[in-house]
Amino acid sequence: MKLHEYQSKELLAKFGVPVAKGDVTSDPAEAKAIAERLGGRVVVKAQVLMGGRGKAGGVKLFDDAEAAGEFAKELIGKRLVSIQNPTGLIVEKILVVETIDIAEEYYVAILLDRNIQKSIVMISREGGVEIEEVAEHNPDAIVKFAVDPKWGLCDYEIRNAIAKANIPKPARNQMVKMIKQLVQAYEAADAEMVEINPCALTPEGKLIAADAKVSIDDNAMYRHPEYQSTSADSAEDPIEAEASNRGIAYVRLGGTIGIMGNGAGLVMQSIDEISAAGGTAANFLDVGGGAQAERVKSCMEVILMDPNVKGIFINIFGGITRVDEVAKGVLTAFSQMDIKVPVVARIEGTAVEEGRKILEGSIIQTANSAREGANLIVSLAK
Ligand code: GDP
Ligand code: MN
Repeated sequence: MKLHEYQSKELLAKFGVPVAKGDVTSDPAEAKAIAERLGGRVVVKAQVLMGGRGKAGGVKLFDDAEAAGEFAKELIGKRLVSIQNPTGLIVEKILVVETIDIAEEYYVAILLDRNIQKSIVMISREGGVEIEEVAEHNPDAIVKFAVDPKWGLCDYEIRNAIAKANIPKPARNQMVKMIKQLVQAYEAADAEMVEINPCALTPEGKLIAADAKVSIDDNAMYRHPEYQSTSADSAEDPIEAEASNRGIAYVRLGGTIGIMGNGAGLVMQSIDEISAAGGTAANFLDVGGGAQAERVKSCMEVILMDPNVKGIFINIFGGITRVDEVAKGVLTAFSQMDIKVPVVARIEGTAVEEGRKILEGSIIQTANSAREGANLIVSLAK
């Protein structure tokens, strides 16, 4: 789960990382009041989870609170579109912070390198631009080293890397300190990434995080309930956000055949069969064990939130859960809903005959195999 800049900065500040003073709001009048309180020289920043907010017009510097308030009014509710995110995101919150005078911009990050199964520190003198750009045009400007999972970081390792990255002398000691703090925050938050870009050096020689991006490992979210309530507005896809709120494992795939299966393997097989039949899957959805009517209904609602869905393929294998129970759940759910697209179910497993009988005569057509079912739904959805 990605945290907003204001949440990321709050977290890092707890570990001593220097950040600019400021506050977050969704109200333009309050934005103006915050700007006044900070003395008028402020930066107004859209809190949307995408890169390149600066270029997209979501970050602006002001000399007086009046103008900052005007911009806040314009920005809140606006859809911000960037190269990385062409659909864009609506700005709900903005961050108003004291302007930092910037002499130089660096890049500092801690992230998980899955290839070497360790966390790494990344440093570059070329901050302020997207790191992918630096990696492409000037890869030598990026210095990386792994954090030993047992012993952690030694000062000399950090110092060597900072020197290798050509970070100017006045910033070095401060950066050593900051990297240690970042690693502490990274570990405490179960993060898979902590990125400071730009890490700003002021003309007075002070190092400060002018931007911050933190991403927490989704599998560790249960240890961080403080972020749970914001998970909906943090997800980039609104249907995935809703599914996550309902506790449903759902991934939007962009095709036209909605899929509901039990067990991740069966769902992936369903997606393959739909492709083999010449169709495209709209989603991954694992209904889980049990498949009670309420659960099935909730899953169906999520699948149908996607306007591209032209047909639904249900693929259930009942092992411990009896198929007739599942069939009853599906029918009950469907009787409470108004489903206008064709539905095909392949059901197999314990008490399959009883299950098929239950579905007979309903709007749900049954198939004897996943392949047969995939072919049928793809042709019906045309
Ligand atoms: P991003 O484009 O989404 O990464 O947003 P950033 O927070 O990094 O802001 C974009 C750019 O705006 C930065 O690279 C800086 O050049 C500039 N910027 C942001 N905050 C400040 C600030 O406090 N002072 C100055 N001078 N520039 C800033
Ligand atoms: Mn940035």
